Amino acid sequence: TETRRWHTHYPNEIPLSIEYEEKPLHAFLEETAEVYPKRKALHFMGKELTFANVLSQARKVASLLQSLGLQKGDRVAIMLPNCPQSVISYYGTLMAGGIVVQTNPLYKERELEYQLNDSGASFIICLDVLFPRVSNVRSKTELQHVIVTGIKDYLPFPKNLIYPFIQRKEYKSIVEVEPTDDTHDWGTVMDSRDENYTPIAVDAKEDLALLQYTGGTTGHPKGVMLTHSNLAANCQMSRKWLHQATPGEETILGVLPFFHVYGMTAVMNMSIMYGFKMILMPKFDAGDVLKTIQKQKPTMFPGAPTIYVGLLNHPDLEKYDLSSIEACISGSAPLPSEVQSQFEKVTNGKLVEGYGLTETSPVTHANFVWGKRVAGSIGVPWPDTDAKVINMESGEEAVIGEVGEIAVKGPQVMRGYWNNQEETDRVLRDGWFFTGDMGYMDEHGFFYIADRKKDMIIAGGYNIYPREVEEVLYEHEAIQEAVVAGIPDPYRGETVKAYVVLKSGYADVEEKDLDTFCRSRLATFKVPRIYEFRNELPKTAVGKILRRNLVEEDKERNKEK
Ligand code: AMP
Repeated sequence: TETRRWHTHYPNEIPLSIEYEEKPLHAFLEETAEVYPKRKALHFMGKELTFANVLSQARKVASLLQSLGLQKGDRVAIMLPNCPQSVISYYGTLMAGGIVVQTNPLYKERELEYQLNDSGASFIICLDVLFPRVSNVRSKTELQHVIVTGIKDYLPFPKNLIYPFIQRKEYKSIVEVEPTDDTHDWGTVMDSRDENYTPIAVDAKEDLALLQYTGGTTGHPKGVMLTHSNLAANCQMSRKWLHQATPGEETILGVLPFFHVYGMTAVMNMSIMYGFKMILMPKFDAGDVLKTIQKQKPTMFPGAPTIYVGLLNHPDLEKYDLSSIEACISGSAPLPSEVQSQFEKVTNGKLVEGYGLTETSPVTHANFVWGKRVAGSIGVPWPDTDAKVINMESGEEAVIGEVGEIAVKGPQVMRGYWNNQEETDRVLRDGWFFTGDMGYMDEHGFFYIADRKKDMIIAGGYNIYPREVEEVLYEHEAIQEAVVAGIPDPYRGETVKAYVVLKSGYADVEEKDLDTFCRSRLATFKVPRIYEFRNELPKTAVGKILRRNLVEEDKERNKEK
């Protein structure tokens, strides 16, 4: 049969299928606040809010939105870094019957305008320092109401707080926003509104909770439609498989941004569903994270490879006690095996590699902790999740060990792309979602990612997967970060180029040292022909290295020549 072929090696105690609670996401907040009203739900720069506080404030947001005319299915953009308001706005919107549109606070006006128009958002909740950007595009969108909030709504403004997404000069431009009929101030709302809102009937399986934009590197980003059930199912699968986390007892480090699907599910929604305390960090800074771990003692720490690399390379790493950490999950990009084992040594737990995409809420696979995992693998599909590999030429299922496109099916798979039937039909066929990632399955049912379809390098007729070359580079003691890409070459079509960041203290390492190292470990055709040494690499908000940007930069430079 075509399904469930990988699980023949599973121990019996692993449930291949689980029961799901089919409820709207916000019903989980109501339940958690009832069970643990006094437990701290979130910690933000020293300020703490209980689950009862979060519920009460989310109700006020719902009440405000409804009083401003929000109807079921209306879109509410949320443009906030991790802070109490990002959690409260999200759940408040859902309670009111709205659909959340997560908006990256790094967006410039052009990107913001595109997303607001594509989603047709009629409300936006934004940080005060981003208000000028929203004001500038407002008249070109369908926005009816803007709700403005700031750090000051919870804390005295910390002098040394620097957001990664705004220019210094923008701080100066922050003026107190004057509330008007269509511009509202969070603080006033919290002080003056009651919690009465009209509960809206939500069909968890059918109704959308979220439009999550993805795929900005080529063309316009697409709005991924995720239902309440998609998102809730992904949390329930995680909890069953990853970590025997005790509801109401764990503390989770929230450094992944909640405006990206990964942080939203793995930190925010998990915490709300299971009563974990979230430590909110609006930006990744290795020193701050180390200090926070020592002080707040989180037990769980979802992250991305570059986050763990950043911590491992901090000069004072050894001075900090990270032993509270029991479970980490790394997603969004390949986790080099070196990084995994080193990070496990400095904590008290396991670092599990997961895999997924925005279109799958996000997780579909994990290299699980039930005693068995395989280095370099993304592991096995999650409960109720089916996966297969498709040979790109024949369109048939690939044989074991053969590389093809990975397709997945399960309760976490999106409904489609918002207002984009053509793209939806391209990736969703017979309930299977075609991921665009190339990979293979071994004889034990473990999956491996070779690379993104579009990142594969073809040099002199050979297929080269950048990830394999990167793995080797990471094994070199001098390398802190590396990314490999194909750049145009008159003879080989493409040639392999490596962009590397050296660890401090290794400035004398040269191209020829890396070349010798790679040649002893890789077939000659895979060895990088060009190296570029950099101080840092461009990254997304979740720390994924932007390989495409580097390639584009190269192209631009070559044009200029
Ligand atoms: P996003 O939709 O932004 O979450 O990006 C999804 C993409 O991230 C996937 O299609 C993969 O290319 C990549 N990705 C996520 N997790 C992993 C992983 N563990 N290993 C390799 N690539 C990954």
